[in-house]
Amino acid sequence: MQRTPHGSSGQSRAKQDADYIFHELTRSICPECKRVIDAQVIIQDNRVYMRKRCPEHGWTEALISSDAQMYVDSVKFNKPGTIPLEFSTQVDEGCPLDCGLCPEHKQHLCLALIEVNTGCNLNCPVCFANAGLGYSLTLDQVEEMLDRFVEIEGDPEVVQFSGGEPTIHPQLLDMVQAARDRGIRQVMVNTNGVRIARDDRFLEDLARMEPVVYFQFDGLRPETYRTLRGEDLLDIKLKALERMEKAGLDVVLVAAVERGVNLDEVGALVEFGLECPGVRGVVLQPVTHVGRHIAFDPLERVTIPDVIHGIVDQTLGRFVLEDFVPVPCCFPTCQVNSYVFVDGDNVVPLPRMLDVEQYLDYITNRALPKPPNAADVQKALEGLWSASAVAGTESTAGQFQCACGPGMDLGYELSHLKDHVFQIAIKDFLDAYTFNVKQVMKCCVGVLVPDGRAIPFCAYNSVGYREQVRRQLAVEQATARRTAGSREV
Ligand code: SF4
Ligand code: SF4
Ligand code: SF4
Repeated sequence: MQRTPHGSSGQSRAKQDADYIFHELTRSICPECKRVIDAQVIIQDNRVYMRKRCPEHGWTEALISSDAQMYVDSVKFNKPGTIPLEFSTQVDEGCPLDCGLCPEHKQHLCLALIEVNTGCNLNCPVCFANAGLGYSLTLDQVEEMLDRFVEIEGDPEVVQFSGGEPTIHPQLLDMVQAARDRGIRQVMVNTNGVRIARDDRFLEDLARMEPVVYFQFDGLRPETYRTLRGEDLLDIKLKALERMEKAGLDVVLVAAVERGVNLDEVGALVEFGLECPGVRGVVLQPVTHVGRHIAFDPLERVTIPDVIHGIVDQTLGRFVLEDFVPVPCCFPTCQVNSYVFVDGDNVVPLPRMLDVEQYLDYITNRALPKPPNAADVQKALEGLWSASAVAGTESTAGQFQCACGPGMDLGYELSHLKDHVFQIAIKDFLDAYTFNVKQVMKCCVGVLVPDGRAIPFCAYNSVGYREQVRRQLAVEQATARRTAGSREV
């Protein structure tokens, strides 16, 4: 579909109303050439679209939310940002070309990613990182990146090791230890689980380090894996999960969600996660159309409301729309969270126990009933509704108990309560079709780069930073290998 910029073709001389509402003007990039261009956000038939024109490649249009009411309502969850201790770049060309973080950035990093390599033991048709040949970081490089993270954050909250596939990096465990040595509170390892399913020794060593495992798990049908991962991985995934549970690891299931593939499985994924003893949460991510992806229609892409409606419709009354609340630390259209207290068959979403919305509504600031501990409850909810909230940790369990208040003792010590608090997160990462400067300027998820920069994740994926960093590191490593080879000769 290509909407004409002013509605109808103009045959009649009578003035006509546009068939859409102009919601706002922002900046984005051209999906073809990545040039920074203006973008209009418009609302039509309760759906929100981004429409933009590149002087060279013409008009493009993409769906950014399939529920305009939810999109517009989310704005009230926008919390003031926290400025990092240091910036790494100057303001020069303007956002998003100065990453980062540059002094115009509006939020610190709740979570930093370190992509330790580009190689992988799978070759998925859907891979935003476009895994393959490239680079593999050294332990020294990673230590310097962690030191920089500590400099810019002071007291960093979460680091996630990613790739490529980080478990095939020979020094991954030393890197996890290096993060722990620097006092970083939560360490996560992102993995497809293939090595975990097959390598006893590696699993034992990993379990000793106690990271939370961010486990790629897209569905419960072989066909889902054939489409998204290129082969039927269901048995390997189930085996890896069983082994992680036996090893005592806390696991978060992470699914890429694509229309016509597994959008009809999101409810089953949540139910499955709730039933698995070692699983502490489920993250559902509409497929980001960068790197490698399958053919898609930008006007029919999966958005956050599709996933929420999917969970509600597919879980037979277990959840309602109001159980899902936007995350205020980033721009609130980026992510929604929910938390569930699980005790045997008893499964209660936290938003049924207290009015989460009232505490996290920063714009309209509705009058709170102001119980004596209101400030503590708000702080606890801010912790839970943050990109730094890691399922399966005592800190998340503590915030959950604090939010419930002393009057609602959940009956568990923290070390056990963490096994009863289940997180559902839905994250809609930006790609070149949906890229919105307004969102990346307040992004709280950054990719650490060996040169000291921290680049907001969606800018890293969409604007061209990923390709630049990969080229540069690959060239540096090839040069270092050649130099070492000539010395040996
Ligand atoms: S995304 Fe943030 S760091 Fe990057 S250019 Fe924009 S304001 Fe600066
Ligand atoms: S999506 Fe993950 S597992 Fe698949 S090729 Fe990319 S990095 Fe590897
Ligand atoms: S990573 Fe993307 S989706 Fe997430 S907070 Fe940053 S800009 Fe928003």
